[in-house]
Amino acid sequence: MKTAVGMKVIKTVEEMKKFVREERKSCRTIGFVPTMGFLHEGHLRLIKKAKEQNDTVILSIFVNPTQFGPNEDFEKYPRDEQRDLTLAAKEGVDVVFLPSVDEMYPTFPTTKLTAIDRTNVLCGKSRPGHFDGVVTVLSKLFHITMPDRAYFGLKDAQQVAVTKGLVEDYFFPIEIIVVETVREEDGLAKSSRNVYLTEKEREQAPHLYESLRKASTLIKQGERDKQKIRESILTHINEHTDGEVDYVELYRYPSLEEITVLEEEIIIAIAVRFSQARLIDNVILDIKK
Ligand code: AMP
Repeated sequence: MKTAVGMKVIKTVEEMKKFVREERKSCRTIGFVPTMGFLHEGHLRLIKKAKEQNDTVILSIFVNPTQFGPNEDFEKYPRDEQRDLTLAAKEGVDVVFLPSVDEMYPTFPTTKLTAIDRTNVLCGKSRPGHFDGVVTVLSKLFHITMPDRAYFGLKDAQQVAVTKGLVEDYFFPIEIIVVETVREEDGLAKSSRNVYLTEKEREQAPHLYESLRKASTLIKQGERDKQKIRESILTHINEHTDGEVDYVELYRYPSLEEITVLEEEIIIAIAVRFSQARLIDNVILDIKK
């Protein structure tokens, strides 16, 4: 299927591989942007970056069942294929890869990928098996699209850390390009799940980032006590939102190792559950600067 402006929509692995073979034969570089769709400005920023750096841009839209837990929101994850295709075409995406679940997981697997490092903390801890699903689907997608570069958002900082590990471990010849978190004007990190916030929760949600900014200021002013920083964030979120804090943590980044003394590059990451959506956000700070 080809849209009005010439963007291809490919639904099968076989056709996708054929397209990629031709591109590589013509020595065209490929930039790959994996997403679960319901596109927003954050995704579009990744596409823009991929357009700048590559001859061809492939965008995948696939809500990957293996990265959702049994009681998570796979079924009700927001989807809008037509809107996504219009936005992708507008951004100049060359190919949208839109496989079905059966296309990506046609047989019962004979092997299993497990993410063993950088996953016993943060979302890996709160969402057991989540990153196993992420490395599984990314390995499949990387083999299908054979990109020179793949684009990821720092909003999902743990995903970036795990993906970098995957690429290093298995020698994927792919450069991982990381893009800063894109935010609403009021500071809320753009997310497909924001549509599930009630009006009141949407008003409260910018306080997630506000609490992180407050923590960054404390650190810049010389605070080095991890517990005090965590407490400042917790208090801020509890005072300004009805959300339930899932975690507030500080780790070394990107190794996600425990820190006893605040030094070098660290991540402050939070996850907060609202009535119908669990939101995450983070800031990464270089303490030496
Ligand atoms: P998703 O569709 O949520 O799986 O996200 C697909 C890609 O877009 C991932 O690499 C995300 O990190 C990235 N992304 C999602 N939200 C944002 C955002 N607000 N800013 C930058 N990148 C984002």
